[in-house]
Amino acid sequence: MAMPLRQSLRLGGYLLKQKLLRKEKFPMLVELEPLFACNLKCAGCGKIAQPAHLLKKRMPVEQAIGAIEESGAPMVSIAGGEPLMHPQIDEIVHQLLQRKKIVFLCTNALLLPKHLHKFTPHRNFAWMVHIDGLRERHDESVSKVGGFDGAVDAIKQAQRAGFRVLTNTTFFDQDTPQDVIEVLDYLNDDLKVDNMQISPGYAYEKAPDQEHWLGVEQTRELFKKAFADGRRKRWRLNHSPIFLDFLEGKRDLRCTAWGIPSYSLLGWQRPCYLLDDGYVDTYKQLIEETDWEAFGRGRDPRCANCMAHCGYEPTAVIATMGSLKETIRAAVSS
Ligand code: SF4
Ligand code: SF4
Repeated sequence: MAMPLRQSLRLGGYLLKQKLLRKEKFPMLVELEPLFACNLKCAGCGKIAQPAHLLKKRMPVEQAIGAIEESGAPMVSIAGGEPLMHPQIDEIVHQLLQRKKIVFLCTNALLLPKHLHKFTPHRNFAWMVHIDGLRERHDESVSKVGGFDGAVDAIKQAQRAGFRVLTNTTFFDQDTPQDVIEVLDYLNDDLKVDNMQISPGYAYEKAPDQEHWLGVEQTRELFKKAFADGRRKRWRLNHSPIFLDFLEGKRDLRCTAWGIPSYSLLGWQRPCYLLDDGYVDTYKQLIEETDWEAFGRGRDPRCANCMAHCGYEPTAVIATMGSLKETIRAAVSS
């Protein structure tokens, strides 16, 4: 199964509008990082490696909303750091929803029970909980015993309170196809989350652990085996069918990093949240002053092993909307 129909329709309408306006580059989703601090120390995370003065900073609400408004993106994924450590995170979510944005609040969920009362279920709002595997694997990934049980308890509380809950799982080179199958079966069938997102781990520059990342061939092999026997269709994955084809090596895509830009305390990050080629103050500067043709596999050696959602899902979405056959395929699998 692919991304929810409501989300697909909203994105489809937005893409059509960009086409009519003859806009060549436009954001589909902004990764908003209103802080870098976190309550965990995951092995693969470079956000928490920022200097102490940045870890103490919190983005003012007006700055966060202003950046999203300037970009015009229809969807916002709020990450960090741990967004629930931002004292006005509920206000940021509230103001984005007022502006009819689709909002995902990414969290490791350990602080979720304490803050749940500040939020109200909304058809355009979902929690996106970071789950990197079943109990032992997740606890190892987040370097915390009890991390998995805490996250699962928080998901159940949010579900009971009527919220939509999605999960985001990153796979590394020690994960086998069976690991992928077991965690997605658990999230899909036992925990019954609304949708799951998956990502092959990529060794971005600031990540302290540079050893356990997947190469392109490893990624294709991993997902080809995990998706076999009709499992891919059964899982409620929050991805377009073309992106899933790409992950399992059925087709190749070019990176479209401008489709999912990243805005943090440092500004708009060039060219994507994985690379760090400097920051600019406005979305307009990001689009106009970045040499987008210089990035992607085969063009920048740092991109050689990247198959990340932020670079390739926008390509897949544009390819879907540009083909009647693919649009029908995406709609049927929603
Ligand atoms: S929970 Fe997320 S932000 Fe926090 S350390 Fe882990 S990966 Fe980084
Ligand atoms: S391939 Fe695209 S998304 Fe991946 S690191 Fe390079 S520019 Fe970023």
